[in-house]
Amino acid sequence: MARLEIDRVSKRYGEFHAAREVCLDVAEGEFVVLLGPSGCGKTTTLRMIAGFIEPTEGTIRIGGRDVTGLPPWKRNTGLVFQNYALFPHMTVGQNVAFGLEMRGIGKSEIEGRVKEALRLVRLDHLAERYPRQMSGGQQQRVALARSLVFRPDVLLLDEPLSNLDAKLRGEVRVEIRSLQQRLGITTIMVTHDQEEALTMADRLVVMSEGAVQQVGSQRDLYERPASRFVAGFVGRSSFVHGRMNGERMTSLGGLDIRCGRSLVGDAVLALRPERVRVGPEPMAADNCFAGVVDFVSYMGGLIDVHVALSPEDRVVAQVVNGEGSFVPEAGDKVHVAWSACATVFPATGEH
Ligand code: ATP
Repeated sequence: MARLEIDRVSKRYGEFHAAREVCLDVAEGEFVVLLGPSGCGKTTTLRMIAGFIEPTEGTIRIGGRDVTGLPPWKRNTGLVFQNYALFPHMTVGQNVAFGLEMRGIGKSEIEGRVKEALRLVRLDHLAERYPRQMSGGQQQRVALARSLVFRPDVLLLDEPLSNLDAKLRGEVRVEIRSLQQRLGITTIMVTHDQEEALTMADRLVVMSEGAVQQVGSQRDLYERPASRFVAGFVGRSSFVHGRMNGERMTSLGGLDIRCGRSLVGDAVLALRPERVRVGPEPMAADNCFAGVVDFVSYMGGLIDVHVALSPEDRVVAQVVNGEGSFVPEAGDKVHVAWSACATVFPATGEH
């Protein structure tokens, strides 16, 4: 258990920045998830913490100790990969013991520690089995035990659930999280699966193009995204482009929209579907516009209504599929309404 500090860490390959001045302070016992699209630098960051990639610049400290120049085995981190990487010709017990044997630890201590690690992942009764005789979820738990046997200060998980089917993923997710909380072990996990990130993390780090975009709780990121990128990546948003003059936006299609933030110049407004109401008649609200339903997508209990407000402006309204709900059909004339909101960002050329 230890605090992890990442201070302006960058990794360059020639002119290309795989990670760009990454700063992150992870408290003892905290579970932090690195989240972002493919190629955003998550794995590079994780591997720099583990010691498998050397940063071009910056400092990494674990428990107050500068580990930047140390090889992986001197950092006391445990890394779990997505493909388990178990030795097929060794039993579960031998797999877990292997790293300790390489470090020349005594036989009886190894026995005790392997037992303890397997008990933690509830596999102590299967120590004699071979990996091929186990399910994917069990194999991933063996991989976890193999890291925990070192009693690492920091546990690093590189998409540990991505090889598991949906049902198992849910189970192992809960298991990893409860084990992490029980042991109070500082943990960093990489994923591009939002739901996984949202359900497991104390805090999330959203990355894009090698840089940290925002760090915060699930709620912070969802309610107060710091950029257009975060608003689009965490949860769903529809985007309206236009020009801001103070708290008013003139959209590309000429709508006069009230916003909860003052800006000047080209901007993009992010609207959460559940914050947009749709009805047959005009509604009292900061913003209310007439439109035509483009299409409707049913997701069981929730329904997305896509509405064109002009040829250039489209929004999505989410309707709860309940008794008496207003559920229009494609081609219907409707009204949509929403409150002035602060999630409006300077345009950066992203769409
Ligand atoms: P994914 O979710 O697909 O695993 P990621 O966010 O983990 O993506 P990284 O593996 O950290 O992404 O890679 C970040 C960027 O750095 C990518 O564009 C990748 O192509 C590049 N990159 C990684 N390793 C090297 C290397 N050895 N040489 C050059 N570029 C590299």
